[in-house]
Amino acid sequence: MNFASDNVTGACPEVLQAVIDANESGPRMPYGNDAATQAIEARLGDVFDTEVKVLLVATGTAANSLALAALTPPWGAVYCHEEAHIQNSECGAPELFSGGAKLMPLAGPQGKLEAATLEAAIDRSGSVHHSQPAALSLTQSTEAGTLYRPAEISALTQVARGAGLHVHMDGARFANAVAALQCHPADITWKAGVDALSFGGTKNGCLAAEAVVFFRPELAENAAFLRKRTGHLFSKMRLLTAQFEGYLTDDAWLRHARHANAMATRLAEGLEKVPGIALHYPVESNQVFARFPRAVTQKLQAQGFQFYAEMHEGASRLVTAWSTRDEEVDAFLDATRAAADEAAA
Ligand SMILES: *Cc1c(COP(=O)(O)O)cnc(C)c1O
Repeated sequence: MNFASDNVTGACPEVLQAVIDANESGPRMPYGNDAATQAIEARLGDVFDTEVKVLLVATGTAANSLALAALTPPWGAVYCHEEAHIQNSECGAPELFSGGAKLMPLAGPQGKLEAATLEAAIDRSGSVHHSQPAALSLTQSTEAGTLYRPAEISALTQVARGAGLHVHMDGARFANAVAALQCHPADITWKAGVDALSFGGTKNGCLAAEAVVFFRPELAENAAFLRKRTGHLFSKMRLLTAQFEGYLTDDAWLRHARHANAMATRLAEGLEKVPGIALHYPVESNQVFARFPRAVTQKLQAQGFQFYAEMHEGASRLVTAWSTRDEEVDAFLDATRAAADEAAA
């Protein structure tokens, strides 16, 4: 049983079927010069209720790095949370793709940045010796599994806008945020001041597909060239497109995210009742951070339960996914209760 992340899963049936259908529909022009890829932009425009420019890629790292490269010059500074994936888990790809932009990690409680912190951090010196303020990057849902409310995003983007920054959102788990907030996707993106979104697919049921969605078409002008130069212009693009078609059809993306979130709630509610175990962050999406006595962690791992133990500030992380079953959560809870009883005895 594996709660290490939501990318331990396979692809969901809707996505696989769409890929099979696309595969069987005969030859198509490569590099996105096919009707389906040309239509996916309008389709995503419908999802966000505005005109968008879209680039499909196969990893979240590529999506983030391409989006940021489009939003910042090589001498730009990109403000982000100190726990951000772009800062800790992308091996310098945003810096590489942008030709050397500098990430500026900032602290903030529960994985979230606060407007006042951003306001204080922005370097307004204009000094030729410093990287120049260029972009803000927010993660939704956050690396702590928490969520920015629309008003919190607006407060941050207002500060950003005031300082001339473009705004990027890392939405590797965007679906989980929309599902949990029960908002329109527009409410936490362009309507709240976000210029470009990395719209995640892989963790929520795609094989390997993420969409960079630009809400201001002028910012996407060079993005196609950046994508080609970084090796992410797929010749069989229609098979990435098909993944997004399957993902979006009948709101599969939201259905899967709602399920993953519900599994996390079930897990968190169970864990909270076990003596000696405490939740570390509020559980708002599909990630549960909890502190376990070390003996309990060891017993669980010895039984084959996989998760990142003591990953952050002593808290272990458990992630649920579109494919997590009730019985899996309940088996984990049963084993945890037994291990806690034994440890207390
Ligand atoms: C998983 C993840 C990504 C993308 O990771 P890849 O391994 O490059 O697909 C980006 N941001 C966050 C917050 C993630 O959790």
